[in-house]
Amino acid sequence: MRSSVSSACLHCGWSGERRFCPACGAALWSPDSDEGAGECTVVLSFDVDGSSGMINRNPQIEHLPSARSFGDYGPMVAVPHIVSALARAGVSASFYIPGWVAERWPATVEQIASAGHEIGHHGYLHEPPATLSAEEEAEVLDRGLAILSGMTGEPVAGYRSPSWELSDVSLELMAERGFRYDSSLMGSDAPYWVSAGASWLVELPIHWALDDYPYFVFAPTDGRRLQAAPEQVESTWRDAFDEIRRRGGVFTLTMHPYIIGRPGRLAMLERLIAYMQSKSGVRFARAVDVCDEFASEWSS
Ligand SMILES: [Zn+2]
Ligand SMILES: [Zn+2]
Repeated sequence: MRSSVSSACLHCGWSGERRFCPACGAALWSPDSDEGAGECTVVLSFDVDGSSGMINRNPQIEHLPSARSFGDYGPMVAVPHIVSALARAGVSASFYIPGWVAERWPATVEQIASAGHEIGHHGYLHEPPATLSAEEEAEVLDRGLAILSGMTGEPVAGYRSPSWELSDVSLELMAERGFRYDSSLMGSDAPYWVSAGASWLVELPIHWALDDYPYFVFAPTDGRRLQAAPEQVESTWRDAFDEIRRRGGVFTLTMHPYIIGRPGRLAMLERLIAYMQSKSGVRFARAVDVCDEFASEWSS
C-alpha cells in the first residue's frame, strides 16, 4: 500500500495502520492526508436468481411462462456466457445460488463450480430473511446448505441475503451454521467485522449503485423501469471503481445472470473488466478469499 494511515477509530477505539477500521468499517483515511491508496481488490459477484425472486414475491408467476422465462434465461443461457467471459479475462468470481435454482439447474451449478468459482448461499426460493420468522429463516438456511454442499461436496462459506434484507437474527443463525462471511450490508467500502450473537462474522459490503438490477430491469411483472444504456452503467461503475481504488477498499459488483448476461450488457462488463485490469494495484478475487484473508489478518 502506497501510504496507510496510523490513527484511532473515532467510533470504536480500534487503532492501527489501515484506511478502514476492521472492527467497525469506519473510514480512517481522509482524502486531505495523502494522494490515495492507488490499489483495490475487485470482487465480481453473481446472484443466480432465475425466476425464484419473482415467484417468491408473486407465486402466480409459476403460471406465467413469459415472466418465468425472463428469469430462467439466467441459469440456462447467460451463465455459460458469463463463465466463458470470466475465463477469457482470467478472473474468478462468486456465485450466490438459491437452493430452488440449484435443484432445477444442477448442470449450471456444476459448470460454475468446475470453473473454480465460489458457490454461496442465496436462500431457497429467494426469501428475504426479514419476511420470515426465526424458525423459518433457520429452515431456509439449512435447506440451502444441504442442497449446495450436497452438490459441490464442499462447505458453504458465504451468504448473500435475497433482496439484502437481513433480519435481526440472520447473522447469529449464520454464525451458528459455520458461515464465515456475509455479504448483505452497506456499511463500508472494505470488509469489517459484524457481531453475530456470541461470535463474529466478516462482512463484505455491497450497495445498490453497484448492482445491475436497479439500472436494467424492465418487466410487466417486475417493475416497468426505464432501462439504462450499458454505457451509462459502465461509466457509473468505472467512476465508482476509480474512487474505491483511491480509497483502497474492495470494489464489489453484484450482478444477476438474467440481467447482465443479456447481449450488449455482457460486452459492457467485459470492457469494464479490461479497464480495471489495465490499472496498477488491482487484483480480482473471490469473496471467500477476500474474507478469509481479512479474517486471518484481523482475527484479534
Ligand atoms: Zn471502528
Ligand atoms: Zn437475488
